[in-house]
Amino acid sequence: MEIITRRQRMSSVARKIKREPDRTIGLVPTMGALHDGHLSLVREARRMCDVVVVSIFVNPEQFGPSEDFEHYPRDLTKDTALLTDYNVDYIFAPTVEEMYPKGFSTYVNVSGLSKPLEGATRQGHFRGVATVVSILLNAIRPDFAFFGQKDAQQAVIIKRMVKDLAFDSEIVVLPTVREESGLAISSRNLYLSNEEQQSAAVIHRGLAKAEEAFKKGERHAAKLEDAVRTTIASEPGVRVDYISVVDAETLDKLEKVDARPILIAVAAYVGKTRLIDNTMLNKPG
Ligand code: AMP
Repeated sequence: MEIITRRQRMSSVARKIKREPDRTIGLVPTMGALHDGHLSLVREARRMCDVVVVSIFVNPEQFGPSEDFEHYPRDLTKDTALLTDYNVDYIFAPTVEEMYPKGFSTYVNVSGLSKPLEGATRQGHFRGVATVVSILLNAIRPDFAFFGQKDAQQAVIIKRMVKDLAFDSEIVVLPTVREESGLAISSRNLYLSNEEQQSAAVIHRGLAKAEEAFKKGERHAAKLEDAVRTTIASEPGVRVDYISVVDAETLDKLEKVDARPILIAVAAYVGKTRLIDNTMLNKPG
């Protein structure tokens, strides 16, 4: 396994691989502090592709001024050890200056889809995500790039961007990996005390309640949202930011759910930590 820190070196390695007939490259973009959620993407990339590249880059462009960029967990030594076990071929771990050299001034904005849900609270977040993913896709030209359903809006935005800008990569979205308690695994769970981790599991229980109501025939979005809200309200340490029932592709808010794939998205504060989770109804396939 090679750790690459220079964008040019990464591009030339990828170009060389692509010159060999039928060799596929899989890219797993991450911000490091790797956990079982990331590793499920790596495992699938390893299964599907000949060469696996994992990028580790805490992207300043996707953090707001009052967010946790400085304090975001970083542990390249531990991440490298994990990825060695998973037989990854390359880690691409550039510096900020390498990704955004002096004079950088081109940004990708997926309008519309970047506005609701996370976009409403996190100004500029998805512009940062779309820009960094564009750089990675252009530098590496992977056949497949792997993302988690945990960040459902991000996955929708990246898929749209790849279609609109004709990137030659297929986006693969994989299910959310959870703790035994149901809590979606996230690097930000490291900010939670043990007690807060226990409380945070109520978010998933809330989503499960809404799924149950849907299975029993409930079709009013407001009722499904209520099912999530009342469940979460049973944990005084958890404060809802939003609960939203939306079309899983357009992210349009719905009053009634029908046969379309539907996303129920939640953001909630557990203490000072903001967590997101979601579930999909009428999952395709
Ligand atoms: P991050 O390092 O948080 O930017 O995440 C990198 C990738 O891992 C993104 O595509 C996330 O959606 C995905 N991911 C994060 N947590 C999970 C999880 N619990 N299950 C599945 N994928 C995840």
